[in-house]
Amino acid sequence: MDYSFTEEQCMWRDVVNGFMDREFGREQTLKHDQNREFPEELYRKMAREGWLGLLIPEDQGGLGMDKDPVMFAIFCEAIGKFSLDTAACIMTSMFTAGNIARHGTPEQRKRYLEPFLAGDAKFSISISEPQSGSDAAGARSTARLDGNEWLVNGSKVWCSGAHHPNTCIAMMLRTGEGRYDFSVLLVPNDSAGLEIQKMDTLVRRSLGTTSLFMDDLRLPADALLGEVGKGWKYIGEHLDFERLSIAASQIGNARTALDDTVKYLSEREAFGKKLAQFQVLKHRMAEDQARLSAAYYLVYAAASAMARGEKSSALVAQAKLIASQTAFDIATNGMQALGGYAQLPEYHMERYFREAKHGMVGGGTNEILRSIIAKSMGL
Ligand SMILES: Cc1cc2nc3c(=O)[nH]c(=O)nc-3n(C[C@H](O)[C@H](O)[C@H](O)COP(=O)(O)OP(=O)(O)OC[C@H]3O[C@@H](n4cnc5c(N)ncnc54)[C@H](O)[C@@H]3O)c2cc1C
Repeated sequence: MDYSFTEEQCMWRDVVNGFMDREFGREQTLKHDQNREFPEELYRKMAREGWLGLLIPEDQGGLGMDKDPVMFAIFCEAIGKFSLDTAACIMTSMFTAGNIARHGTPEQRKRYLEPFLAGDAKFSISISEPQSGSDAAGARSTARLDGNEWLVNGSKVWCSGAHHPNTCIAMMLRTGEGRYDFSVLLVPNDSAGLEIQKMDTLVRRSLGTTSLFMDDLRLPADALLGEVGKGWKYIGEHLDFERLSIAASQIGNARTALDDTVKYLSEREAFGKKLAQFQVLKHRMAEDQARLSAAYYLVYAAASAMARGEKSSALVAQAKLIASQTAFDIATNGMQALGGYAQLPEYHMERYFREAKHGMVGGGTNEILRSIIAKSMGL
């Protein structure tokens, strides 16, 4: 298999990387992390470039990259280079926007996609509940039709970004008794009967994450996305894309963490030598480089398989498993290599380390990914 990029893919890689260096930069991610603030300016700049619409078909005002997973992975690798949290701030809305483009009514598309493409609106996705994370089908919050309205009750947890102004939550709710009897309702975050509580987390400090409490939350009948009972399918259909994008951003971030570590070892001296002259440290960097190359090729092999329309869930699971583990190991080795200085936010490593740890949980834990891979092996 040929893993080299086409001319168009190389140009796209340079454009997005150049944009991130020029228009955003690493110091901004530090500031947003410390202040727990959303990168609003970056989000709006992305909107001006038209990039928020990457996963929306061209005839609906987007760029139609939902048909080109390799190009999308290149984008995600670049936006993750300084911060996985920043990448999540940009990517989280895109998947629900894609769902609305695929399954929404013309009115829903007009109401939600137009302001989203302009950078004025955002989306969150709410599946997890206090008793059901990995076992997502164990969700219990309900929606039932009461006359011409939906009546929603229950609670959700870890709904990232739900507290930002002009955010619509795509909420997976039980509408029947069967294990997978769910529907997706589009819930504006200022709806009466919805309480949103911010959670104080170690990671995702810019995007932020929340608990949701629905107490007789009433929504019009047209809050339903697509058809009743199809929610599980809608949520699942972009899972491979989502996992691929997370894996791509992880290799982008791991590249930065490894480069930072190599630079530090090449400059810092101990016992009259540069740290990079100690073989134990040199070999550790070489090992990290080899593993990062392996993760990189696996991510783009998975993206290429998806682009060819092959059944790719197990390969995407492998890519995310290896990318997340590699990103975490590289950041862990970075923490050790920087000694005490690794503790200081201005060295960025502790942020890479925190975010990489979450990368082994968000979008499907590494144990769940192993189960997907094992199943594909007939186990
Ligand atoms: C910062 C943050 C942001 C998030 N954002 C969102 C969001 O926007 N929307 C949303 O819906 N959710 C979100 N989540 C939730 C996330 O998807 C879940 O945390 C994740 O699915 C794991 O669920 P859990 O935390 O309940 O852990 P559990 O499912 O309780 O798992 C606990 C441990 O047991 C392991 N385990 C579980 N089942 C098995 C098994 N069958 N075999 C082996 N091991 C198993 C898991 O791998 C894990 O290590 C977010 C979480 C965090 C921390």
